[in-house]
This record gives sequence, C-alpha cells and structure tokens, in this order.
Amino acid sequence: MGMAETRNWSDQLTALLRASGAAVLTVTVAVLVGIELEKWVSTRGISLVFIMAVVICASRMGFAAGILSAVAAFLSLNFFFIEPRHTFAIADQKELFSLGIFLAVAAITGSLAGRLREEAVSASRRADMLQLLSDFSARISTAESEGEILAALTEQASKAIDGPAALFRQDGEVPAAEAAFPADMAIDLNELQSAELVFRKGHPLAATAPGWAGGRFEYRFVDRERLPDRVIALAPKGGHTAMTPDAEQAVLTLMDQASLAAERLRFSKATEMAQAAAQEEKLRSTLLSSVSHDLRTPLAAILGSVTTLRQFGGTIPVAAQNELLAAIEDETRRLARQVANLLDMTKLQSGLKLRKEWAEIGEIVQSSVAAMQVSAPGRVFEQRIAAALPPLKCDAVLLGQVFYNLLENAAKFSPSTSPVLICGAALADSMEIKVIDQGAGIHADDVPFIFDKFFSRALGPAGKEGAGLGLAIAKAIVGEMGGDIRAVSPGGSGIGTEMIVTLPIGEVQSTEAQ
Ligand code: ADP
Repeated sequence: MGMAETRNWSDQLTALLRASGAAVLTVTVAVLVGIELEKWVSTRGISLVFIMAVVICASRMGFAAGILSAVAAFLSLNFFFIEPRHTFAIADQKELFSLGIFLAVAAITGSLAGRLREEAVSASRRADMLQLLSDFSARISTAESEGEILAALTEQASKAIDGPAALFRQDGEVPAAEAAFPADMAIDLNELQSAELVFRKGHPLAATAPGWAGGRFEYRFVDRERLPDRVIALAPKGGHTAMTPDAEQAVLTLMDQASLAAERLRFSKATEMAQAAAQEEKLRSTLLSSVSHDLRTPLAAILGSVTTLRQFGGTIPVAAQNELLAAIEDETRRLARQVANLLDMTKLQSGLKLRKEWAEIGEIVQSSVAAMQVSAPGRVFEQRIAAALPPLKCDAVLLGQVFYNLLENAAKFSPSTSPVLICGAALADSMEIKVIDQGAGIHADDVPFIFDKFFSRALGPAGKEGAGLGLAIAKAIVGEMGGDIRAVSPGGSGIGTEMIVTLPIGEVQSTEAQ
C-alpha cells in the first residue's frame, strides 16, 4: 500500500499548492486595489478589502485556502499599509492590536466560508450519489434478468466514479467482459488478464498510478458470497485515489444492491418454476381423474353389453341383440374419440410438430364430415365451401381433427333434427370456416371459458358433461397454424352457435408445393 500512500500524499500536496496559489493571487489583487484606494480610504477601510479577499478565496477554494489567505492578508496589510511600510515591524502599539484583531477576524471568516463551501460541495455530491442510487433501485426493480441488473450496476458505478467501469464474468479459463460503460469502451488483453488474476487469486487488485506499468482499473468482487463469479473494474477519473468517500460508499451500496437483486431474481425464478411444476402436476391429476371417468363410462357400458350377449346370447331376441351390438359400437367409438383427444392433448403439451403440406380445405372438411356421419348417421351436415378457396399449407390430419371436434359439439348441442352448416369463404389474406348449429347456444357467461382446458358444461339433449378438451385442442392446433378460433353465440340467425376458424392463407402454391 506504500504506493497508494505516496499518491495520497502527493494529492494533498497538489491541493495545498492550489490553495496557496489562490490565496497569493487574491491577496495580491487586494494589495493592488488597496494601493489604488489609499488616496481616499483609511487603513481600516483597506483592511476590509483584505477581509473581502479572504472571504472570496475561502468560498471558492475551501477551508485551507481560507486560512492561508487570512495569513497572507495579515502579512500584506502589515507590510504594505502599516507604518513603517515595507517592513514587518510595527511602530504603533495600537496598530498592533487592530492587526491582531484583523488576523483573528480574517481567520474566522476564512475558515467559516471555507467550511461552508466544502459542505455545500459535499452535500451536492451526496445528493448526486443519492440520485444515482435511487435511479439504480428503480432500474433493478423492473429488471427481468441478471444481465440487466449487472448492466445497470456497471453504468451507475461508472457515473459514481466519473470514469469508465467494466464487469467481468468468470467464464471457464478466461474471464469475459459482460458489461461496460461507456458501452463502446475498448477492453484490452492486459485488462482481461488482470480480471483473470483476480478470479484466480481471489482478492481484489488496486489500480496503478498513471505512468506505472499495469492497469488503469482497480478490480473488486461485486459480492464474494452471492456473486462470486463477477468482478467489477473501476477507473475513477484521475487515478484510483480520486474516488471520493461518497463515490466509494455509492459503489459499495450499488454492488450490494445489485447482488441482492440478482439473488432475489434467482429465488423468484426458482419459485416461479416450482409453481409452474405444481400447476402442471395439478393439471395432470385433474386430467387423469376426468379422463378415468370418461374412459370408464363407455368401458362399463361395453363390458355390460358384451357380458349380456355372452351369457344370454341365444335367448335374447335378435332385435335386442342388435341393440346391444349397436351400443357396443357407439361406446367403442366414444372411447376411441376420448383416447384420440387425450393423445392429441399430450402431443400438444409436449410441443407439437406440424407436418405442413398443401391441402384443399374442402377436402379436409369433407373427411371430417364423413367421419362424423359415421357416429351420427341420420344427421344433416350441409357443406357450403366456396369453390375458389386457395390451397392451405397445413397439417391436414390435425386440422381435420379441429373440424371433427367442432362438428361433434354442434351435433351434440343442437336438436338431432336440425342441420349443421359448414361455410367457407376467403377474406383478404385469410380464410374463414364457420360451423353453425341451431342449438341452444352458449351461455354468455361461458363464452370466455369454452376454449379452456377441462371446461365442460352439460346442456342440450345430450345432457352429458364431457372432458372439456375438444375446444382446447382445436384452439391449440389452429393457433399453431397461425390462425384463430372464436365462438359467436347466438349466431347470425339469432339462435345456435357459430364457431369461426380463421386460417392465414400465406404464400400460395410456391415451388415447395410441387
Ligand atoms: P366437451 O364437449 O367435452 O364438454 P369442449 O371443449 O368441446 O368440451 O366444449 C366445452 C364446452 O363448450 C361444452 O361443454 C359446451 O358447454 C360448450 N360448447 C361447445 N360447443 C358448443 C355448441 N356448438 N353449442 C353450445 N355449447 C357449446
């Protein structure tokens, strides 16, 4: 630390020289003014000129300059204006007394004015530092990543020390510069090596005096406990001893707050993840319980019918046998649907990969209608798809699933005698497919929730609650394709529901398609 002490000492010497320079200058001016005024003003009046010089010098240059100028004023007054002149001797005893008083007054005013100035300077510096800290707090309170916090730290630390600052992260063997302020500051190999040394040795590194070999920066750990892999490099203006106690304090506070904030962020990220995991777990168990119900009901029905047929097959009339077989067929189909939906849901949850191919929307709708027709044989599904619709780049199988789910709901929630209408039309850069039924519609309170997972409300003639997955799956699939799906209820005709699927048309029939 010997070098730092030497520099401290030399800094103080410079300050003293500046103060003496200022004192000599102001008192010289006072002497010249005094000589000019002497024709009109008494010696007492001239002594006031000197007092003024002392006050000016102290209030501009601080305490030391105040005292020095008081002494210089005392000597000059004696030398130039008190008989015998041009000597420091004093002939008159009375003059000696007033000179003594003059010295006391000059010294007191000088020191007071000097202190006042020093306090004003440090108060304004403290205010600056407080401003800096409060700006910093505001910034880190909204920071969403550690990087943001550390960038703010580097910037505010640089402002506090009034010189460049850089932040290094331990990154394998060689540290990497993570942030710098000013941002375009060049960081050379020497500086990276110094940072590496700090990480390796585990203790901070002081800056070297200008002109000495070594770096302009001093290196410190931001927080050895909470952020052991970060080192900040600071280069206060005019070498490291130029860091004022206020700046030093501000830097310490900044580093402390930054590491606390980084830690808080890490904790809250961990909590968020834990919450997400818990949410996921809850979803899974809800899914399981709802699914086990949905799977068990058709299974029980199938099992019942099969058992009856096996036990009493020969004795039951053919019509009743056929009814049982039809029931088995229906329930098996229902089961197959549920399982398919479940599989889709798991696929969607674990990140869906679309297999995009060119397809005609008319064909996709047609195949969904055909599939639906099997489970609702007598039902009328009326297709009105405009002939001129452009081909779509999409996953036809999944999109078919979307329409199947919509058709199934439309059939389920409307009287079996009413037709279900499917319309398709082109808009500016998208197409719109509507599935329209004439059922009771969706209750206004339910509309915002029907696309949520597990939302299901029994209504209409079918009267059974479902798994609440159909629309959630439809929404997820359409969303993956860059489209959207919404419900309008009552529909345009004043009754029923319109499910409207919008799909982007995109680039039409590019070379990829052939
Ligand atoms: P599920 O059919 O298994 O209940 P969905 O996600 O397919 O699940 O539908 C969620 C809810 O939205 C349904 O329970 C029903 O209340 C409502 N809904 C969906 N489609 C219609 C429709 N066409 N008419 C009336 N209500 C509907």
